[in-house]
Amino acid sequence: MDKVKIRGRDYRDLTAVEIHAAGGLISDIRPLPQDDSLPILAPGLVDLQVNGYAGVDFNRCPIEEESVLGVTRHLWRQGVTTFLPTVITNGDEEITAMVAAIASARRRFAPVGQSVAGIHLEGPFISPEDGPRGAHDKTFVKAPDWTLFQRFQRAAQGNIRLLTLSPEWPQAPAFIRRCVAEGAVVSLGHTAADARQITAAVEAGATLSTHLGNGAHLLLPRHPNYIWEQLAQDRLWCAMIGDGEHLPMSVLKVFMRVKGARGILVSDATSLAGMPPGRYRLHIGGEVTLSPQGRLSMADNPQLLAGSARSLLYGVNTLIRQGLATRRAAWDMASVRPSALLNLPTRHGLNIGAPLDAVALRQDRQGELTVLAAYQRGGCVWRDE
Ligand SMILES: [Zn+2]
Repeated sequence: MDKVKIRGRDYRDLTAVEIHAAGGLISDIRPLPQDDSLPILAPGLVDLQVNGYAGVDFNRCPIEEESVLGVTRHLWRQGVTTFLPTVITNGDEEITAMVAAIASARRRFAPVGQSVAGIHLEGPFISPEDGPRGAHDKTFVKAPDWTLFQRFQRAAQGNIRLLTLSPEWPQAPAFIRRCVAEGAVVSLGHTAADARQITAAVEAGATLSTHLGNGAHLLLPRHPNYIWEQLAQDRLWCAMIGDGEHLPMSVLKVFMRVKGARGILVSDATSLAGMPPGRYRLHIGGEVTLSPQGRLSMADNPQLLAGSARSLLYGVNTLIRQGLATRRAAWDMASVRPSALLNLPTRHGLNIGAPLDAVALRQDRQGELTVLAAYQRGGCVWRDE
């Protein structure tokens, strides 16, 4: 078995350590004399919502298997060693073809097999209402359908690990029970559900809210409403887009305080993430503008966001910069916590027995973290030259 040694400072308390790995697993962590010149070592980031990256779109049929490998490599540079390609509402044939292509890429390319922990299917069983539906195509929105979901899951070779749906459909509780029994994590999102429906979904086994506070009506009754109801459900974890655009800092702060250790960051990155600024045409959304600062908006109405073009690392840095979380807490929200929700081997982080999926980081005086190297199953997969 390959043996590896990495020296650095543990991201939790900055103590200098030497991490030993054998066969891809951490076998020992030994203390070193303190040395502040060493990079910071942290578990690799885990992104539950990646719609695409660097021009690759997981929602445009057909998906080239090589392009999944390309996204995997791009994300290493941003510190992400685990992610869920996210396929949204589309025609049944299109969804079937796209999840099949991602599953094939997992089998065909070892790095994809290691980085892609599964597929996030966001839709088509969501709210048909304008607002909660977001940019999802209404033509393809439908009630939860177990036979159809099994068809998707067969095409995906069982890789659909996370399913976002709206519990406003009468079929939802029974459907959620079957999904959970088969090992999928069910998340509530793009929903106009009432309190009773949300409670029924949680009792049926739903455990997450998808990008809470986005994919919602512009105006809501002050109370009750589906944001309060999901916040108040202690069993629901909460995924938040931390790009600094989708949620005001005050909302992020409150969600984080309420959810505590069940707060998770996602990027919800689209195909334009990692692309140079400019004007682009998206097959969902039409003409959009990507600003030099990374804000993605509608070309004819810059007030309206057209999705996220920022990495998960940007979200972590936003929380640190805004003083909403310590380095450790912000990092955990985007690494070990999403791993714990999905019960992945990486949930143990930098501890003996866990896979050595890690990143080496530099932190500047403002607290900004940049990635120097990424390691997967003990091996260095990317290094900033
Ligand atoms: Zn969404």
